Amino acid sequence: VELPIHDAVLARAAEFGDIPALIDGTDGTTISYEQVDRFHRRVAAALAEAGVRKGDVLALHSPNTIAFPTAFYAATRAGATVTTVHPLATADEFAKQLRDCAARWIVTVSPLLDIARRAAELAGGVREIFVCDSASGHRSLIDMLASAAPEPHVAIDPAEDVAALPYSSGTTGTPKGVMLTHRQIATNLAQLHPAIPAGPGDRVLAVLPFFHIYGLTALMNAPLRQGATVVVLPRFDLEQFLAAVQNHRITALYVAPPIVLALAKHPAVAQYDLSSLRYIISAAAPLDARLAAACSRRLGLPPVGQAYGMTELSPGTHVVPLDAMSDAPPGTVGKLIAGTEMRIVSLGDPGKDLPPGESGEILIRGPQIMKGYLGRPDATTAMIDADGWLHTGDVGHVDGQGWLFVVDRVKELIKYKGFQVAPAELEALLLTHPGIADAAVIGRYDDNGNEAPHAYVVRQPSAADLTEAEIMMYVAEHVAPYKRIRHVTFIAGVPRAASGKILRRQLRENA
Ligand code: ATP
Ligand code: MG
Repeated sequence: VELPIHDAVLARAAEFGDIPALIDGTDGTTISYEQVDRFHRRVAAALAEAGVRKGDVLALHSPNTIAFPTAFYAATRAGATVTTVHPLATADEFAKQLRDCAARWIVTVSPLLDIARRAAELAGGVREIFVCDSASGHRSLIDMLASAAPEPHVAIDPAEDVAALPYSSGTTGTPKGVMLTHRQIATNLAQLHPAIPAGPGDRVLAVLPFFHIYGLTALMNAPLRQGATVVVLPRFDLEQFLAAVQNHRITALYVAPPIVLALAKHPAVAQYDLSSLRYIISAAAPLDARLAAACSRRLGLPPVGQAYGMTELSPGTHVVPLDAMSDAPPGTVGKLIAGTEMRIVSLGDPGKDLPPGESGEILIRGPQIMKGYLGRPDATTAMIDADGWLHTGDVGHVDGQGWLFVVDRVKELIKYKGFQVAPAELEALLLTHPGIADAAVIGRYDDNGNEAPHAYVVRQPSAADLTEAEIMMYVAEHVAPYKRIRHVTFIAGVPRAASGKILRRQLRENA
């Protein structure tokens, strides 16, 4: 039988019973599987009583908390579509999202209440704001747990009804609302499961945000579906993160490249006992093989595995299976998951399929492809062609065994005198320099209209005297002449999205 997402994820919640589903990593508060199941049904009843109807959009505006999954599944059980909101969004940004998706309800947390109120005022159309935690003139989820209202029985069509409306990261432009049906999300969980099985006794650390599709899948839906325990942290702070791994005996980490970088390079790492860790998976942005190796060597773990996907793919298509982590070729983002097809086509001649070893645009076809962008039919048709192939905008190639390697985004490739240079490759090389703490590369145009690689570098505190010339020389020693860095700007920090992606747009605008 085909189930809506809350039933698909919580199908075994009764069986898992007293096992901790969620633990607050800051104060230890725990919610068991039995409680998640009961709580989300009660809150769904109260939401339905408050007027939430099938198809209504409910904005979930919260950092990671142990209440987040309850709010999410309660909303979908009441028939709503959940649009997740960046907890650092300004009132203007939040209002824009509310307007874009005509949201009628907001669930927030008391520290963000003022922003939620202002956003609702600006947007109009919001009928009520609920808070997850203590009351504050608004109904709270805690009050709702006591609701005597009958459980709603909303008829959900998993194939058509939109369960989640996450917004893409906005790395390449304005974030777009991505319509994901119950079936698309549930199917992708089932597709990913065989590659990375987990179960009771496994403990993951939810430090990447639940509001982004990667955190939502890898740190909420997948572990809760399997009976694992999710330890929740509200934001990334390296010391707090390391302490949580040690104190909660975390077994698996799902992270983005900046965290791999910290694990590989930061001195604080040596002060914690991280021996409970069995594996690390990184996704959301390019991860260099050398950096991955430095991280695993330091922690005494199998090589960091990768996964690949995008919001529009619910989100996954590739992952390094757990049982192949030690043998997978360095740098790969994994193998295609079951029930999904891929093509690599020429960038110059998009009709032409390329053989293994040659890089081109990655196209994907499968049941996890989004229903479409909300209110943007043109953008949807531009992305998904008439034959059902989704054009990812990413460049990659496979090896003879089908391992995929992602090079970079098509749009980010720098054209230097007719050659193509991938910023990700140069960033990875820069990070191998001992004096460099972090780096980003973009294409900049000179006065003659020629594009060339320009590096933004964060120096290690111990390397304050590292010069532009030294950096350019270091790169020149390692790459073909056309890939050389032509300018260096020193900065205090690389701007990144919550999911760890470099915001090259921001570097360009500030240049
Ligand atoms: P927008 O579409 O709004 O510009 P975005 O593409 O960053 O933002 P997401 O859906 O969060 O939004 O990210 C998907 C993208 O992340 C992919 O298209 C790809 O470029 C990148 N990505 C994901 N996983 C990996 C990986 N393992 N290696 C390299 N890049 C990855
Ligand atoms: Mg994208």
